[in-house]
Amino acid sequence: MIYEREHEIEDEKMIDYKTFTGGIFETNCYTLEAPEGWILFDAPDGACDWLVSEEIDLRLLLLTHGHIDHIQDLARIKKRFGCPVGVHPESAPMISERDFFRDFGFGFEIEPVQPDLLIEASASRDFLGMNFEILEVPGHCPGSLCFFSRENALLVGGDVLFAGGVGRWDLPGGDGELLFDGIREKLYSLGDEVTVLPGHGPPTTIGAERRSNPFVRL
Ligand SMILES: [Zn+2]
Ligand SMILES: [Zn+2]
Repeated sequence: MIYEREHEIEDEKMIDYKTFTGGIFETNCYTLEAPEGWILFDAPDGACDWLVSEEIDLRLLLLTHGHIDHIQDLARIKKRFGCPVGVHPESAPMISERDFFRDFGFGFEIEPVQPDLLIEASASRDFLGMNFEILEVPGHCPGSLCFFSRENALLVGGDVLFAGGVGRWDLPGGDGELLFDGIREKLYSLGDEVTVLPGHGPPTTIGAERRSNPFVRL
């Protein structure tokens, strides 16, 4: 099983991506080189320094959702690289309103950032010359986005589906049934060979989760 997963993840067809994990919630972000430049998905604490140390000239920052652990370095990154920021309309207030996270009782305050691109469900959307299918899978967070590159069999999934788990549905705006249905209908249909890059924990595949995820079975 372990061999099988490693084999799938190292498949030659797949685009090269880099992973950084930062912050107290050990949040993953991923960067990959599209034909017209580097895209970063999510912005956990420490991501800006990591990009600099990797000498990545970032051209675009896309957010899977607006939870605090995924946006902590957002303002710093935008300032450092001057790159546009893309987010779902329902997540936009989470990054543009300084006090948004007070409602969560976390006591966090963020440096607000205005989104440059609003991203909603779409069968085909181009980012820096790379084509993505945009899936909205709410239930963990309103407006949660998954970015699917069909040609690379790669899904940047945020906090929707994890290796052996799913995103929490008990936070404000969460809904367990909505989350499970979304995973079943929108993600499990993408194909067993698809690699999932989740917001927390190691990569997995749709096939592995479809067969053994304890929360959502077909
Ligand atoms: Zn989250
Ligand atoms: Zn998270």
